[in-house]
Amino acid sequence: MACTAEGVAAAVRAAAAVIAEHRAELIELDRAIGDGDHGENMNRGFAAVVAALDAAPPDTPGGVLKLVATTLISKVGGAAGPLYGTAFLRASAKLGAVDSLDVPALLDALRAGLEGVQARGKAVGGDATMVDALIPAVAAAEKAAGDGGDVAAVLTAAADAADTGAQSTVDLVPRKGRASYLGERAVGHLDPGARSSALLLRAFAEAAR
Ligand code: ADP
Ligand code: MG
Ligand code: MG
Repeated sequence: MACTAEGVAAAVRAAAAVIAEHRAELIELDRAIGDGDHGENMNRGFAAVVAALDAAPPDTPGGVLKLVATTLISKVGGAAGPLYGTAFLRASAKLGAVDSLDVPALLDALRAGLEGVQARGKAVGGDATMVDALIPAVAAAEKAAGDGGDVAAVLTAAADAADTGAQSTVDLVPRKGRASYLGERAVGHLDPGARSSALLLRAFAEAAR
């Protein structure tokens, strides 16, 4: 994939397809420890993102991510919409008007996205949220870049680490979001937002290959 606006838009479309495929799984995960809407929230949001890309394709990678952000913020209620919206908004601001994404810009965007989620939601590692997928993802991306990886290798390392990080939420007592109301009773369950973060990164990595 060339990391032009078209390439980034294709990756976002691929992510929307993956979210649609996993809608029921995300609903089930959220039904166990939340209110059961995460799959529907994410699917509605990403379907609206695809419609927005069809209607007015942006001409920079940052423009694509900004459209993702504003669409998720306006179409997705609950916790995840504003959190993912802030992540994509911070990433887009970091990219500015560059017309192609290289590894340093990708790392900046990933770091900015994580910072956005944490600024908005105040979760730290170990709180059993999407942050537990994203912190190791960013660390693995930095390491892969340091080892000379290209965009696809960096995103693949991030997705692999996000899978492991998401899985770690099974053993954690949630301290943020609805699952925190269950306390110890939520132990044994995978956090739905950590799972969706890992799915998004995997879709981006596959699109970049
Ligand atoms: P809601 O809980 O409002 O129904 P969703 O079901 O769409 O929203 O999203 C739930 C997910 O959002 C959780 O699984 C968790 O990963 C994430 N989340 C909730 N609160 C926070 C927070 N403060 N910081 C980071 N992530 C959070
Ligand atoms: Mg929910
Ligand atoms: Mg809800």
